[in-house]
Amino acid sequence: MRTFLLLCVLPLALAAGDDWQSAGVVNVTHSPYAKLHAVPIRAVTMGDGFWSARRAINVDQSIPTMLAELEQHGVVDNFLRLEGKKNVARRGPLYTDSDVYKWMEAVAFVLQSGDQPKLRAEFDRLTGIILAAQEPSGYLNTYWSEDRTARRFTEMTRSHELYCMGHLLQAAIAYYRATGDRKLLDGGIRFANYMVENFGPQKRPALTGHPEFEMALVELYRTTGDRRYLDFAGYLLSGVERERLHLKDSEVQYMFSGKPFTSRTEFEGHAVRAMYASCGATDYYMETGDAAYAKTLQTLWGDLVDRKMYITGGVGSREAGEAFGEPYELPNAQAYGESCAAIGNMMWNWRMLLAMGESRFADVMERALYNGINSGMSLSGTLYCYRNPLESSGEKIRNEWYDTTCCPPNLERILASLPGYMYNTGARGLYVNLFHSSTIDWHLEDGTGVRVAQQTEYPWKGAVDFTVDPAHAAEFSLFVRIPAWSAGTSVEVKVPAPFAARQEAPKPGEYFEIHRRWSPGDKVHIEFPMTPRLVRANPLVREDAGRVALERGPLVYCLEGPDQPGFNLMDASLLDDGSSFVSAFQPDLLGGVVVLKHRGSVVDRPFNKEPLYRAFKERVERPGTVEELTFIPYYAWANRGQSSMEVWVPYNTVGGE
Ligand SMILES: [Zn+2]
Repeated sequence: MRTFLLLCVLPLALAAGDDWQSAGVVNVTHSPYAKLHAVPIRAVTMGDGFWSARRAINVDQSIPTMLAELEQHGVVDNFLRLEGKKNVARRGPLYTDSDVYKWMEAVAFVLQSGDQPKLRAEFDRLTGIILAAQEPSGYLNTYWSEDRTARRFTEMTRSHELYCMGHLLQAAIAYYRATGDRKLLDGGIRFANYMVENFGPQKRPALTGHPEFEMALVELYRTTGDRRYLDFAGYLLSGVERERLHLKDSEVQYMFSGKPFTSRTEFEGHAVRAMYASCGATDYYMETGDAAYAKTLQTLWGDLVDRKMYITGGVGSREAGEAFGEPYELPNAQAYGESCAAIGNMMWNWRMLLAMGESRFADVMERALYNGINSGMSLSGTLYCYRNPLESSGEKIRNEWYDTTCCPPNLERILASLPGYMYNTGARGLYVNLFHSSTIDWHLEDGTGVRVAQQTEYPWKGAVDFTVDPAHAAEFSLFVRIPAWSAGTSVEVKVPAPFAARQEAPKPGEYFEIHRRWSPGDKVHIEFPMTPRLVRANPLVREDAGRVALERGPLVYCLEGPDQPGFNLMDASLLDDGSSFVSAFQPDLLGGVVVLKHRGSVVDRPFNKEPLYRAFKERVERPGTVEELTFIPYYAWANRGQSSMEVWVPYNTVGGE
């Protein structure tokens, strides 16, 4: 008998502790099926650079102005009126509660990087207002109250009741991890208990018409240890209530909910719902190890990256229904690409990275973050894109407010939580997912203290320097993500004395493992190639036929009107004449960007002066004039007023035809 061995099975990573200060963006410390583990936001101090500039504006401009907008549009009054403190009509769509919760989550993530008494006071003030509107049962929603009370949970395909509470729970958990204060968390738990006690297979049927509650419930399970929340997430993902709720096929398709998650083979319907459902399903998998979930998640991931994702990491190409299109249906000017959907894509790939430990998921995170998410907020931090098209003739795309203002606080919470996405730990060492000057001060999973300083001017420059400082000399691995685009990356490990350098040729698209006995002060130098890259799309993406996109490092580039005076973008094409791109950092342009220049040709007679159709055999001589095309990073477009823009640019081969 060897049953004594069972006694040795202790919970994972006891050294990490279970206190509120040790949890990351998600707490998978004890998740049995997570290959990698998150580090706390507070363990990572960001140095100067690309994201620090954005994050400072987020705290100084975006977050304060967004609260003012929310107040001005009655979102906070919606709670006060229920408490009899404001005699005003309820304002806004039925999901406005979630917007203030998401704003609060952004604040809570800011507070995880360091106290900000003013923001903390605002959070506490809002907590008081919100909880005063909560009913003794635990129910809380400003829309489904008063004369709509009788209709609660009777219109779950559209009611957003669980969606709103999912966002409240996420804000409450983030604040608990920032301060240890569980006042809002206890309010969220009252609602969650109301759900698990009154709904379920032998009780009333429940459904997330807009998925979101699933991932919040799994996080609540991780935070409290109460298994009922995990089981309820599993119940929602199982879609067993389709018959009791009389769901139509079209609803099940659109909501990405209401049938077994594990029966899905492709992305369809509303993109944000599909991304959030996939986040919840990945969280559920990390706790249960259910192989059917792993298989479905891998299948869906392939569907997304091979057929339905924009080069910017944006997803959901159709405006109608804010939905996924058919495979390869990726229009440029008509692209929807909601900011929230790109954020959902990053959140999902972050969870897939934790679950599977593979670099390809971090590659998608980086693509979405630098491009399709980053474009969503203006450089000023106060204007937002809801849609993120890849081509424009100059419509107004950035606004300070939307009646459905889901995207602005979502962008704010991503920027605020960014330090938590940069590094992970695994059984064999420390993982570097993203590149930015920063210092992580944390410990390996065996408890060895380790401090790693990262110095870089990424994404503008490809050099990244690490200084590794374990508390004492220790054997472990440093895993550095080598982005899929970075063929020709060099890695050099420098050991101070006696000096010895080791050159390696790492593989793009994988983590490069540097295993050794590290001593305090050991250094690693990496050079990512920052040569501009022309990319073509699969020919089945009809809109991109005959066109190329330009990338440099993690950034997708575009042509924008203000940089090409004297001609219309639509008349220009890139001249494929064998010449190379000229790169130049322009500190005064768009907050400081590397611009890329290349020869292009512009037709003599603008296309809008040509007839709509002409005979195929009618040869049109169109030598055009050679002009210099100037490309800027896509995320920075529409920051100089309304202007035309193009990511996929036609190209002309000299001497062709
Ligand atoms: Zn949105």
